[in-house]
Amino acid sequence: MLRFLGGLAIVALVVVIVALRVTTHAPSRPTSAAAPAIHAATLPPPPPISEDCRADAWRAAAAANRQSLVALAWAPFGRNETGWATYAPLIGREIATACGPDTPGFAAAYARWQSAHKLSADGVVKAADFPAMRTEIELRRPFVQLTSKGICPPPPADAALQTARPDEAYGGKPVQLRAGALAAYRALVAAAQAEGVAREPNILKLVSGFRGPAEESARCADGSCNTLTRASCSAHRTGLAMDLYLGHAPGMDPTSTDDANRAAMAATPEYRWLVANAGRFGFLPYPFEPWHWEWTGEAP
Ligand SMILES: [Zn+2]
Repeated sequence: MLRFLGGLAIVALVVVIVALRVTTHAPSRPTSAAAPAIHAATLPPPPPISEDCRADAWRAAAAANRQSLVALAWAPFGRNETGWATYAPLIGREIATACGPDTPGFAAAYARWQSAHKLSADGVVKAADFPAMRTEIELRRPFVQLTSKGICPPPPADAALQTARPDEAYGGKPVQLRAGALAAYRALVAAAQAEGVAREPNILKLVSGFRGPAEESARCADGSCNTLTRASCSAHRTGLAMDLYLGHAPGMDPTSTDDANRAAMAATPEYRWLVANAGRFGFLPYPFEPWHWEWTGEAP
């Protein structure tokens, strides 16, 4: 029996090592500057290399998705929205496809995800499927793992915070992060630049970083907190969360939660690159705000 258990342990260890080797190199090429911090098992697998986006069997589902992409009436975060294009990059990552959201290949991958989650596997994106996906994405964030238990983590000591260089901050305003988070941010930006994804100089600059409890309370003084768009216990108090500049809809603030603004950002190549690659540097997304990313290399 002991021998059998020992054998099982070795097999499990080999599986974990192989899984780590495979997933830490995905989905883009490896980089020595990466700061991997997310356990491989917490992220969906990368898209298969030889994926058929025109899979004939899924044409009808693709047609339904093409329509709902811009027309679905739903409330994925409790606020009425139209269409799911804003979430298409994240959904694609979650179902492990590189195919566009209106393709048969996407529908095929979505059906695989539905099947794995014991949902009706018809390949059609539905509002009723989203809570399962949203919960899975959100609960990967260590900060949410705490707040979902009613724990609001204390801020880090002042000495743990570092100030970003003025040229790293949007508008040059001071932005502070934990040292490890700032280093990981720099590695992420260097990789994005090396891979040619930044359209203009402001892209990926830090719009916001650490916000202490006093600043959070001040933001809540007008009674606007504990809603979808503002929390009295925000991840920004950890020094691990950051808002990145991804452009904005005409006339809007780069962190405006207006649907048009979020949709404009989600449609950028930079956001799609982040969704595919930020995990390599230890970052996880907040699905409602394309600009908000949390580094997971240290506990909140
Ligand atoms: Zn944020």
